[in-house]
Formats: sequence, structure tokens, C-alpha cells
Amino acid sequence: MAERIDGRAVARSLDETTKSEVEAMVAGGMTRPGLTVILVGDDPASDVYVSHKVTACARVGIRSTEHRLPAETSEDELLGLIARLNASEHVHGILCQVPLPGHIDARKVLEAIDPAKDVDGFHPVNVGRLSTGTGGIWPCTPFGCIKLLQTVQPDLTGMDALVIGRSNIVGKPVAMMLTAQGCTVTLAHSKTRDLPGKARQADIIVAATGIPEMVKGDWVKPGAIVIDVGINRQPGENGKDRLVGDVAFAEVQHARAVTPVPGGVGPMTIAVLLANTVQAARAWQK
Ligand code: NDP
Repeated sequence: MAERIDGRAVARSLDETTKSEVEAMVAGGMTRPGLTVILVGDDPASDVYVSHKVTACARVGIRSTEHRLPAETSEDELLGLIARLNASEHVHGILCQVPLPGHIDARKVLEAIDPAKDVDGFHPVNVGRLSTGTGGIWPCTPFGCIKLLQTVQPDLTGMDALVIGRSNIVGKPVAMMLTAQGCTVTLAHSKTRDLPGKARQADIIVAATGIPEMVKGDWVKPGAIVIDVGINRQPGENGKDRLVGDVAFAEVQHARAVTPVPGGVGPMTIAVLLANTVQAARAWQK
């Protein structure tokens, strides 16, 4: 039976560390770390994500502020707000919830955030820092995957890793982080030939495609570690949706360890966001 990597427990433990760091900073005379979340429009899913982030801040002692702007907000107004937040000494992290309304250029907005306050880690400067191994702020979900992996295997040096999915927000950064950890990485995508064959060679599989239960039992070699990033809604019993990952969880029990969905990678994203905010606040006050 594969070890079930408990993302909720790992996220709780990371939150404890973050909370202690916040308390130590405040006790040492530093400004309390502050995160500002911007939400434009009334997308219900985004509304829930923003509320979760704000609640999580309170849990670890980070000061949070919300800017909930109407869907008609112009790009210039949003860029003006970001410029003010960039200049504020009380704001150490800025997060602009996506998707943005169609008339706003999301890339322009993302690139307007001061890279030192880009706690999502998506600004090209932070992507460049990750790819060149020169620090920066690392994106939350990918960094969460690495932290989960390291609960099972702290030293990843020399391992063969297969990342399935090459998006800018998950697949590519995970591949860069694994490379930085000393893995030999194959980055697969929809055009990859013989994906099952490549998967069978891998010591580590990270699945981030958005295709429900795509990674089958016979793709996974005995003893491999499997990280499932996928979050897919499927019709369940009683008309209620159920969440499944990109991995056929029940079929991969010969793996050494596997993350469940839900309760694996998902809970790590906000925990890393909080840790990134503290990192940004510390760097800002140096
Ligand atoms: P994208 O849709 O942006 O990217 C999907 C990737 O999967 C693409 O690179 C695509 O290849 C690849 N792909 C699609 N079909 C296949 C196939 N048949 N074989 C191999 N590769 C394939 O998705 P995201 O990266 O944004 O998200 C991936 C999953 O992770 C989703 O389920 C999403 O919900 C989840 N997610 C979870 C988060 C969390 O836990 N907090 C955060 C972010 C995402 P190509 O480039 O060739 O099209």
C-alpha cells in the first residue's frame, strides 16, 4: 500500500512555522507582514479563493487587506492601484486574483506588480530567478509539490522525474524546481510520444494536465513517488460533484507514496502563499 502524503498535515505544519516567524519578526521590531488581495468582478469561485486566503492570513498573524473592485474597473484604474500598493511600506505581498475581466490585459497587470511583492511568483523576474537559480519568490502550487515530495524523500539528487503538463503556472516551474534539486527531468505534454513508457522509467511523477485519472496503475513503476496536481470535478452520487485528480489513485498503490485528491497538493498552495509573504516582508525590511 502506498504511503498517502497528507497535504493538509504538511500545510498545517508549514503554517505553524510561518506563524512563529511572524511572531518573531513582530517581537524583533519589524513591521507585521502584510498581504493585499485584489479581486476584480464577481466570479464566485474567485470570491471563495480570496476569502480563504484572507482567513488563512489571520490564522498565522499576517495583516491582510482586500480590494474588491467592480467588473467595470478599467485597466488604468487597476494599474494605478497596483502602483500605490507597490509604493506602500505596509504592503509586502500583492496578489491579483485571476481570471480578470476580458477588457483587462492580465499580463500587463501581473508585470506591473513589484517583483519583490509578487508572492504568487508569476512575474517574469521571479520566473527568471527560478530558472537561473538566483533566488526570487517561487510560485505556490509548484513549490508545494516540492515540499510534499521532500516529506518522503528529502534528498532528490539523481532521481529521474517526469512532469506531465508544461503550463507556466504548474508544469514548467515544477520542472525547474526539480532540476534545481538535482533531478533529471522530462517535461511531457500533449505532443509527447509514448508517455506511459516514459512514466514507467520515472522515480517521481508529477501529473498536472487537468485530465481526470489519466495516469494509470501500469504507468507507475513500483516504488515511484506520485504527486497529483489535478483538480477535476466529476458527477458523483446523489447529484453531487466529486473531485478527482489526474492520477487513478486506487491503481497506484504499488507506488512508494502518492498524494490524494482532495487533501494533497491543494492545501499546500495557500500555505506557501503565506510563507512567500513572510519571505517578501523580511526582504523588504532588510
Ligand atoms: P493547463 O491546461 O494550463 O495545462 C495542461 C497541460 O497538460 C498542458 O501543458 C498540456 O499540454 C498537458 N496535456 C494535456 N493533455 C495531455 C495529454 N493527453 N498528455 C500529456 N499532456 C497533456 O493546466 P494547469 O497547469 O493550469 O493545471 C493542471 C491541473 O492542475 C488542473 O487540473 C488544475 O485544476 C490543477 N491545478 C491545481 C492547483 C492547486 O492544487 N492549487 C493550482 C493550479 C492548477 P500542451 O501544452 O501540449 O497543450
